[in-house]
Amino acid sequence: MIVELISVGTEILLGNIVNTNAAYLAEQCAGLGLSCYYQSVVGDNVVRLRAALCTALERSDIVILSGGLGPTTDDLTKETTADVLKMSLVMDPHSLERVESYFQKMGTQMTENNKKQALVPQGAIVIDNDNGTAPGLILEKNGKRVILLPGPPNELRPMFEERIRPYLAKLDGGTLYTRTVKICGMGESKAASMIQDLIDRQTNPTVAPYAKPGEVHLRVTARCADEREGEKMVKPLVKELKTRFGMHIYTTDPKVTLERAVVELLLANHLTVSTVESCTGGLLAARLINVPGVSEVFKSGYVTYSNKAKRRVLGVKKGTLHKNGAVSAQVAEEMAAKAALVTKSDVTVSVTGLAGPDGGTPEKPVGLVYIGCCVCKKTTVKEYRFNGGREKIRESAVSAALTLMRQCILEYYSEVTFRK
Ligand code: ATP
Ligand code: MG
Repeated sequence: MIVELISVGTEILLGNIVNTNAAYLAEQCAGLGLSCYYQSVVGDNVVRLRAALCTALERSDIVILSGGLGPTTDDLTKETTADVLKMSLVMDPHSLERVESYFQKMGTQMTENNKKQALVPQGAIVIDNDNGTAPGLILEKNGKRVILLPGPPNELRPMFEERIRPYLAKLDGGTLYTRTVKICGMGESKAASMIQDLIDRQTNPTVAPYAKPGEVHLRVTARCADEREGEKMVKPLVKELKTRFGMHIYTTDPKVTLERAVVELLLANHLTVSTVESCTGGLLAARLINVPGVSEVFKSGYVTYSNKAKRRVLGVKKGTLHKNGAVSAQVAEEMAAKAALVTKSDVTVSVTGLAGPDGGTPEKPVGLVYIGCCVCKKTTVKEYRFNGGREKIRESAVSAALTLMRQCILEYYSEVTFRK
């Protein structure tokens, strides 16, 4: 089946916002086995939106539109689509109730134009929006399907995951069952090369690698009659991936993030943790603190950016800084080791690096990062060379720090068990 994406919004057209919805939807559709041949971006303009939708309906079976479902006058996706499909708009009492209670919960007055969001094309499948007011819509007409989703990604994504994905999966008869094997500490090309033979001979189930910042997700998908059959079908392939990737796999649970896996590891081993960061400026602490329940294990997070702070707060030796420079294995090691004393934590992680764009030299280029991890007095330091801009380098460093923490804790405990 052919699916086509239309992103609606002048902001996207002008480049004011990046079209992450299209990237997300395209990836999701490909994972569902749908062929996506066309994508377009249209401003908030009835005539051009109309033309884009008509063209899409001529050449595709399913059209997914995102954006322009809100209450303002420039939000005209629903009205235009209803007009093109010759469907009249009717008030949906359930959606109206939800919009009203949303405003009640927020403690703000609902304005008259918000009622507009509860108008739906007659016969539409209405998808509740748990993170905003505009509901999503599925319209079926003349063998075509048009899906309307709200623009904000935090509304669109859960809606797609929970309702649209299962809807699309059922269209060809049967359903799709997916398991995601999440890997850290390995790049996408290495991971892909390790499963090339599986990719080459795959039919059903399929396996596909997806690169995420600092990690790789291997998505195993089976086309099946129901969930039980799907589970059975993906099992041998997931088992094979576990054999091939071993300790690099941090979870197969879709809800578990890398930081959550690390926090769970700390909790399971009753370990406390503290972070000392230079170039990541608190991002590592922030990612850990995002995990509910982290208060059981997280003690403190220092941002020791200047040399003076590294000396005063942590007690890094002046000589170490002077001789090796702040971005060095020695400083990362001292930061982590001294932080263990200062914070009295079982695990401490240090990050020091050059995020750029200036300050690089041939010996120490931008992107050079050292990460130290001290677990129960044993410190490990690793050197990394990340590419990209300042933001990407800092983000990569955080993922690498989480990966190193996980690795050091696992190694420490396997040694402890081995010694016993
Ligand atoms: P709202 O009720 O917030 O007005 P909407 O469905 O009308 O939602 P838009 O007004 O088109 O959606 O966009 C709202 C916001 O959602 C944008 O300002 C932008 O932050 C985000 N957004 C919209 N479209 C995209 C997109 N294609 N990719 C990423 N973000 C988007
Ligand atoms: Mg809007």
